[in-house]
Amino acid sequence: MAKKYVYFFGGGKADGNESMKNLLGGKGANLAEMAGHKDLRLPVPPGFTITTEVCTYYYQNKKRYPVGLKEQVEKALKNIEKLMGRGFGDINNPLLVSVRSGARRSMPGMMETVLNVGLTEKTIPGLIKQSGGNERFVYDAYRRLIMMYSDVVMEKAAGIESKDDESGIRIQLEKIMSQMKKEKGYAFDTDLTVDDLKKLCALFKEKVKQVLNKEFPDDHNEQLWGGIGAVFASWNGKRAVAYRRIENIPDDWGTAVNVQAMVFGNMGNDSATGVAFTRNPGNGENKFYGEYLINAQGEDVVAGIRTPAPINEYSKSEHNKDLVTLEKAMPKIYQELFDIQKRLEKHYRDMQDIEFTIEKGRLFMLQCRVGKRNGPAAVRMAMDMFREKLITKQEAVMRVSPSQLDELLHPIIDPKVEMTKKPLAKGLPAGPGGACGQIVFSASEAVEWSRSGKKVILVREETNPEDVEGMRAAEAILTARGGMTSHAALVARGWGKCCVVGCSALHIDYEKKEFAVGDKVLKEGDWITLNGTKGNVYESRLPMMDATEENKILMDFLKICDSIKRLGVRTNADTPEDAKKARQFGAEGIGLFRTEHMFYGKGSDEPLFILRKMIVSKTEEERKKALEELFPFVKNDIKQTLEAMDGFPVVIRLLDPPLHEFVPRDETKLEQLAKDLNISLEELKDRSETLHESNPMMGHRGVRLGITYPEISAMQIRAIFEAAAELIKEKKHPYPEIMVPVVCDVKELEDQLAIAKREYEATLKKYNLKKIKFLFGTMIEIPRASLVAAELAAIAEFFSYGTNDMTQMGFGFSRDDIGSFLPDYIKKGILAEDPFQTIDQKGIGELIKIGIERGRKVRKNLEVGICGEHGGEPRSVEFCHQVKMDYVSCSPFRVPIARLAAAQAVVKELQSQKKNKK
Ligand code: PEP
Ligand code: MG
Repeated sequence: MAKKYVYFFGGGKADGNESMKNLLGGKGANLAEMAGHKDLRLPVPPGFTITTEVCTYYYQNKKRYPVGLKEQVEKALKNIEKLMGRGFGDINNPLLVSVRSGARRSMPGMMETVLNVGLTEKTIPGLIKQSGGNERFVYDAYRRLIMMYSDVVMEKAAGIESKDDESGIRIQLEKIMSQMKKEKGYAFDTDLTVDDLKKLCALFKEKVKQVLNKEFPDDHNEQLWGGIGAVFASWNGKRAVAYRRIENIPDDWGTAVNVQAMVFGNMGNDSATGVAFTRNPGNGENKFYGEYLINAQGEDVVAGIRTPAPINEYSKSEHNKDLVTLEKAMPKIYQELFDIQKRLEKHYRDMQDIEFTIEKGRLFMLQCRVGKRNGPAAVRMAMDMFREKLITKQEAVMRVSPSQLDELLHPIIDPKVEMTKKPLAKGLPAGPGGACGQIVFSASEAVEWSRSGKKVILVREETNPEDVEGMRAAEAILTARGGMTSHAALVARGWGKCCVVGCSALHIDYEKKEFAVGDKVLKEGDWITLNGTKGNVYESRLPMMDATEENKILMDFLKICDSIKRLGVRTNADTPEDAKKARQFGAEGIGLFRTEHMFYGKGSDEPLFILRKMIVSKTEEERKKALEELFPFVKNDIKQTLEAMDGFPVVIRLLDPPLHEFVPRDETKLEQLAKDLNISLEELKDRSETLHESNPMMGHRGVRLGITYPEISAMQIRAIFEAAAELIKEKKHPYPEIMVPVVCDVKELEDQLAIAKREYEATLKKYNLKKIKFLFGTMIEIPRASLVAAELAAIAEFFSYGTNDMTQMGFGFSRDDIGSFLPDYIKKGILAEDPFQTIDQKGIGELIKIGIERGRKVRKNLEVGICGEHGGEPRSVEFCHQVKMDYVSCSPFRVPIARLAAAQAVVKELQSQKKNKK
């Protein structure tokens, strides 16, 4: 028997179910579930799904179909006919079908759909009869079919590239239609009469023949197979491929094809179509939310041509508040829909995005899938559903992606400034947060401008899937038309990008590259600012700020993460202010305090000057004197940080950068410094010259400084102990961890430990203390250090992986100079990703594992963490969990993301253990 390629659903039964997404695509699997699951058995129009395997076969076999497919499709069609009581191609009582794509993961608007398949000159009279004599509806359906079919099947799928947007068949047909409307003085498509539509259909067919050199196929079977082929072809269409690149969807997944009986939302005023969400996808509130259009087909809702009406009071907005709700217009149907959405959410245990159609007073469910949501909504829904006991704590944690969490941490317009500004215009709040940028009017310009480092806001009438790359490149998106379910809104929500849609006050002139609001005109390159949470558009560039003020739901969500995660999350903080901020974000200590940062930025003039004095010292005597002078500054800096993190560990790293970094390069600055130091310019230059190195990153830095100038290490270590001692006297609980950087051999550590011991004893004596709690440890950032980790662990009480340098030295890629070649490596696929962003698990990861294993063999309770930039990158955090580090450390803003990623690592581990057991 031939393999099963076709899965039927309808009439309370289905061959497939929700778990078969890989085979049936997301849409097909859900249709099967909705139609056939015993708890649902919803009114889904009957249909069948052609599997993704057929798509793969199709592309592997010169676009041919497997043997047996035809027969299976015919059999399934018979089934639909039986359930609908109509016949495909039957001239008296025709069945029409839709042909839609459906990949494993939703790719909104990226692939093709053909509706009304099966409508031909021959079946037209039958459909008129079926519709109760509604001739207008039938010819409208026919003109839609010709438009869609010629565009999708005869042009795009046939690989005919129109020279520009203007010459595509769809645009040409649309022009004929607008021409007719203009001549007749009609404002809306609905003004077209039966005779108009008949004439349009004839004109359309002529045009199709003229432009594409082929007749529009007036045969139901040809239409069906043409549609199926077009869906498969659209998997490799330009838009779909671009979207897959951005979303990391593999090419070999393929798409399924869903063929389903047509039901019509445009059969008159007792018909309608709509889109709804079981909860508000914009803010997460547990309220049924959606839009619908009376007497319309689904595409009218998404296309944003007519303003959809709200389904209920809750869904009302500034834009549609005067339109009649579904709840009022069709109360019974609304109630049925309301009950169904409740059941759907309970069944799927997640927010659902549903499409429905009402045909002559009868409700049909066309689609349901997990609804996209923005970050704030994701967190809120996860928390609410957990509290409603709909999902477990572990599920709640998996419901929010690190990038969604990132959205909550995104900038907003400074509220104090925003309060004083009047919006230039208002639209719908489709994507959260604030953004400012320079106006551009096309996707390609958005890409170009942003490549040259500019921040842009893409302004369009409405967007379509061809714009995705530009939308991605833009800081934010602003459209003049479309609702909360329009393309721009869907895509922006998926990405968590700031977005305002349906801003109808905007009059865009693409040719002049400007838009007008009233008599105000803004041009390309002008700055605007958007508030995507409120839907406001402001002129000029407003200041931004962090949105992480007291957000109770976020805090509660992160607490749940903390209760699951095993990894500690610390922060890299260089100033006491950073340390305080990081505490608010939930950091459990400092994983890296780069002491040298006290010589940059605010209040650094004096310590920097003394440091420079120390650097140019000719003798040890002089140097020691300068160090004495520097000591109180260092101690104070460390003390404040230890205090901000009271009770939590603070890893304080000894001086790391090569000394020449602290000497100015600029001639005038050198002159000034020479003057201030009271030495000649010659002498200063000489000294600076001797500090020069060919490879400073592999030169005189890190512990090597402490080896040559033990007095530098001694001063820093003394500052650490004395700061701690003073805090102990003040009844605080300092916990410093002294970290030696750039170590490659145990003897280096022994050398520095001897200094630490001396200073420790001296401090105890000076402060009359018995003990100061501290650890002495090392960074592991040179590959050799990982290999000799057993020896290092005999001395070091902790390891902290400096994956920045480890990646640099492991790959031999200079941290500062990769810009010139890394893009080529990525483009050519030599490296999948930038190893400085996400840990290269294959190579650098292996070094890390070796180090941990060898280190812990010698010292069982060796504390291991990471302080390279990777410590806040979600996949690297998961890796750190897997190799059993004790903590990760990252910049303050990434602490919440690391907390989530650490919790998700635990849940994923449990999931895979469960799978393995099975
Ligand atoms: C590292 O090398 O990973 C590190 C944290 O140190 P730095 O970036 O200061 O060299
Ligand atoms: Mg380093």
